Amino acid sequence: MSVDSPRAAAASILLRTIQGAMVEVPSTLSTAPPHVVLREGLRETPARVAKAWDHWLGGYEIDPHALMKSFEDGAEGYDEMVLVKDIPFYSMCEHHLAPFFGRATIGYLPQGKVVGLSKLARVVDAYARRLQVQERMTVDISQCVMNALAPLGVGVLIRARHLCM
Ligand SMILES: [Zn+2]
Repeated sequence: MSVDSPRAAAASILLRTIQGAMVEVPSTLSTAPPHVVLREGLRETPARVAKAWDHWLGGYEIDPHALMKSFEDGAEGYDEMVLVKDIPFYSMCEHHLAPFFGRATIGYLPQGKVVGLSKLARVVDAYARRLQVQERMTVDISQCVMNALAPLGVGVLIRARHLCM
């Protein structure tokens, strides 16, 4: 986890904590009623939880700025707004560790540089799969587009449902 180090470090600690807590689950369950202990469906749950969180926080492993490096030149004189609507995303609220998910719309007014639409979707994913708040995610995405393309303007709109609200 070298990218975005302070938050990556926090996520790494969180992940280890969750993994550690889940390791305790089997012994905790051994004091639970037999029908809980013996349930087949719970046996692999600690490992599955650890793996799932590894994926949900996998955005720290992706450098969004690197994704945007291979922009396409040739947009000189192109003065129409580029609009990518309704990019789906799934994120984790850093206050409650609860999911929030929805769609992001990105618009920018190019100034000689444009980027493939799939790149923007990957940028959204890279920021979403971190411990986030919706406001910071919005700013992160817009700054990433700003840094990479230096457009005349950029706008990011995120609509999301938060399970913690
Ligand atoms: Zn929350």
